[in-house]
Amino acid sequence: MGGFFGVVSAGSCVQDLFFGTDYHSHLGNQRGGMMVWGEKGFKRFIHDISNAQFRSKFQVDVDELKGSRGIGCISDTGDQPLIVSSHLGTFGITTVGVINNLGELSRNAFRSTRAHFAEILGEGVNPTEMVASLISLEANFADGIRSAQDKIQGSCSMLLLAKEGVYAARDRYGRTPVIIGQKSDGSLAATFETCALDNLGFKVVRRLGPGEAVLLHERNGIQQILPPRKTMRMCAFLWIYYGFPASCYEGINVEDVRYRCGMALAERDGKLDVDAVVGVPDSGTAHALGYSHASGLPYKRSFAKYTPTWPRSFIPSDQPTRELVAQMKLIAIERFIRDQKLLFCEDSIVRGTQLRDTFKRLPELGAKEIHVRSACPPILFNCKYLNFSRSRALLELAARRAIQHLEGDCEANLDQYTDCTTEKYAAMVDHIREDLGLTSLKYQRLDDMIAAIGIPKECLCTYCWDGCEHENPGDE
Ligand code: SF4
Repeated sequence: MGGFFGVVSAGSCVQDLFFGTDYHSHLGNQRGGMMVWGEKGFKRFIHDISNAQFRSKFQVDVDELKGSRGIGCISDTGDQPLIVSSHLGTFGITTVGVINNLGELSRNAFRSTRAHFAEILGEGVNPTEMVASLISLEANFADGIRSAQDKIQGSCSMLLLAKEGVYAARDRYGRTPVIIGQKSDGSLAATFETCALDNLGFKVVRRLGPGEAVLLHERNGIQQILPPRKTMRMCAFLWIYYGFPASCYEGINVEDVRYRCGMALAERDGKLDVDAVVGVPDSGTAHALGYSHASGLPYKRSFAKYTPTWPRSFIPSDQPTRELVAQMKLIAIERFIRDQKLLFCEDSIVRGTQLRDTFKRLPELGAKEIHVRSACPPILFNCKYLNFSRSRALLELAARRAIQHLEGDCEANLDQYTDCTTEKYAAMVDHIREDLGLTSLKYQRLDDMIAAIGIPKECLCTYCWDGCEHENPGDE
């Protein structure tokens, strides 16, 4: 998916840009980029980070970057930031999201303006260049951003580095966050993750609403150039899995939500005869702590993650290597497995392959029972708004494979499989349980997950779980 960080500063912005961008490394693993604007104009570096950390790749570039304004990104959608020359002036741009109608927008551009694109991603146009092109068709940045938001199907939050300052714009439905931080010296930062602000001395001063855009300037402060729209569909999965625990979106802390998710799971379970609660590292940890707290069962670490060489940002995009990484990075602690009835909390079950790989040694290590609780409901739909899902084909999803097995058609009776009170839902869960070789398996109820987040359902995207699109082209 990716993340971004932008800064305007009275002095050099480079140190803040470097570390602020690095704090988004958990959101992507393909490309990293940094770009600054200073007395000598624009300077930019882009590196492949698929096999190395952002910091190690960019450390050598920091001395060459000189300027007071900058934008940086972690990208899963090609090279970024791009430098664009247009009638609006030369500007830099970085985006987060996915453009589902990229082909249609490209064809329109070729037909109506005979446009050409320089940055190619796979066989198509680099989506960030498409956004830049849409913006440049209009008379000014505000109109250009609004027009791009209206034309893009999918989602797109963006940062633009221009001679007037840094523009920050949130996706029209607010699926991803854009938050503004300020230092006591007046420096301003725009960030996806609020955890990027704290250690750099920024305090959150503003959260952009859906579709809202602002211009950040080191002396003039924050100027709104587009008001927020009414409809928000913020990605609920950010709190459950993708977001960093120390971050807050809509003022709600990620770790806190995960803790409440675990508590809700425990409250639904009632009293269980198990010896310990275990979090599947790292993202299951907070859910398990919440479960442990609410149930009174001890929390234990039956797996340790080998963090010195397996940080999350190294997770590769191809499935076989990902499975190998999943197998290698977690090391079982037999002392906390043998003769134990264990309840594992996991953030989500997408394909189920990683869970199966993680747990396959548990019986030979002497586990007596293996219970699993998922902090979110069964995933029945691949994300089409953020490139979020680790899965593309429907039958890669564990829940769809179960439906295929039960119905002979993975599209059959979806209304019943999304309803946790039906017999079909129970049969689907039981099939997944059996497939994974578990003693018991339960998923969080959607209403409990939403309550744990603490935002009304109509302000959240829950498409992964219930297929609700909520999208209405005329919806402001
Ligand atoms: S479909 Fe799922 S991952 Fe994608 S934006 Fe919606 S909740 Fe988030």
